[in-house]
Amino acid sequence: MDGQEHKRRIALLGSTGSMGVQSLQVIAQYPDLLQLEVIAANSSADLLIQQARTYKPNIVVVVQEEAYKKVKAALADEDIKVFCGEQSLCDVCEMECVDMVLSCIVGVAGLRPAYHAIECGKQLALANKETLVVAGELMTRKAKENKTPIYPVDSEHSAIFQSLAGEHFNPIEKLIITASGGPFRGWSKEELEKVTLEMALKHPNWNMGPKVTIDSSTLMNKGLEVIEAKWLFDVPIQNIEVVVHPQSIVHSLVQFQDGSIKAQLGLPDMKLPIQYAITYPFRLENNFPRLNFSDYPQLTFEKPDLENFPCLHIAYEASRRGGNLPCVMNAANEMAVRWFLEGKIRYADIPVLIENTLAKADYCVPQSVEEYLEIDRQTKQRICMGE
Ligand code: MG
Repeated sequence: MDGQEHKRRIALLGSTGSMGVQSLQVIAQYPDLLQLEVIAANSSADLLIQQARTYKPNIVVVVQEEAYKKVKAALADEDIKVFCGEQSLCDVCEMECVDMVLSCIVGVAGLRPAYHAIECGKQLALANKETLVVAGELMTRKAKENKTPIYPVDSEHSAIFQSLAGEHFNPIEKLIITASGGPFRGWSKEELEKVTLEMALKHPNWNMGPKVTIDSSTLMNKGLEVIEAKWLFDVPIQNIEVVVHPQSIVHSLVQFQDGSIKAQLGLPDMKLPIQYAITYPFRLENNFPRLNFSDYPQLTFEKPDLENFPCLHIAYEASRRGGNLPCVMNAANEMAVRWFLEGKIRYADIPVLIENTLAKADYCVPQSVEEYLEIDRQTKQRICMGE
């Protein structure tokens, strides 16, 4: 690959989450082309130990110290280096033995290592959407400076990326991002008041981790994706449209200035966008299930309900105003989702908490990753203090 003699060597950050687990399965399909150099996780020691034994990376990173001790002891008989701490996530990104960083970290925790990967000129395959939501301007500027590609892993962005192949000089009129609408599509305000955690954790089409599943149900996930698309493809936010497509077969579309629309279709399976990102520009053979159109006699499209699902509108507004506001919005959303998962707030409180936090935020334009992370910290702290 890349005309290089060696295999593409990958550092997988966030290997124990839903996306990380699927990424390992994809990487393992192509032992002649891909080499798993690093796996990293926050604290899921048992799964990480199992992954290390199965997939044999050269390096394992564990962020939390207690989990690190457990992993280190368990892997003592393996020829695997084990590193500890958040800084190690950045350190592995700069290692000579890594060509590509695949970041499946969830939340703003992915920002520092992703930025560092770009600073070090590594190819970045990005499943962590919060990185571009919070610091898209910095990330894309640095990527341009260093001529470092960012390959999208999210299915919608992968679809757009695939539709843009061979269209380098053709201006984009509009991006159309599809949304499944989540489990509560068509529900009234009164019905949404009664949503429980169990109900929100059941996504109709996609198999994802808890944070993304809750975000999908509130449509905040789509809001984050719109902002992510704005930075990845350099398209103004007002030229990005969301359309609800409950079957999740059309993964997103690009409309060019001649009015022509290109799309990418397939079954809802994250393994395909993961594979395309890490083997780009090649389409490699696989045995994933194929789409059969007769199983989907009706593909439908409708407008999103912004009134009962205000998170999507909140995201558009935060992005339009720019500066620190997408970062504040993301921080408030991360807290709201965490509290909902912990049973501390009701489902209907999620957008209210985000809106109240944004209303109190002072606008500024952060100049560095550290400044963004400080705003994230302060926002979360203030929410906890009830300010
Ligand atoms: Mg998505």
